[in-house]
Amino acid sequence: MGTEKPNFLWPTNANYATTKEFWEGLRRRQFLARKCHRCDEMFFPPRSHCPHCLGNDLEWVELSGKGTLYSWTEVNIAAPEFDTPFLLGLVDLPQDIGRIAAKIVGAEAHQLRIGMPVKISYADVHKDLSLYCIIIDQ
Ligand SMILES: [Zn+2]
Repeated sequence: MGTEKPNFLWPTNANYATTKEFWEGLRRRQFLARKCHRCDEMFFPPRSHCPHCLGNDLEWVELSGKGTLYSWTEVNIAAPEFDTPFLLGLVDLPQDIGRIAAKIVGAEAHQLRIGMPVKISYADVHKDLSLYCIIIDQ
């Protein structure tokens, strides 16, 4: 039986100039990172300046959505907006771009192994908001 809980928090940066395109990319099923024209490095999360060289000549690049499970936990106590328990994973993006945290869906704890391949999936949680989650990449 479902609850009335939203099971997400509205991102505070959804309309920031530096991150709006990222959230719009999720609506299109694209996971976007930033690439710096000055030093050619990619990074995530999106921000106004490159963390490698502080340059601000940046472009958006679409990632494959594939990653490696760095760690995970079962969350039993959460903000009141969430049903518990749920699985939360930390995923390393390829090429040392960064590490993301997201809910793991469609899997049970006994199926998870650190270092296993995972990928990003998408969930439309509101008519104006899509979020990313993690699924096992089989
Ligand atoms: Zn740079």
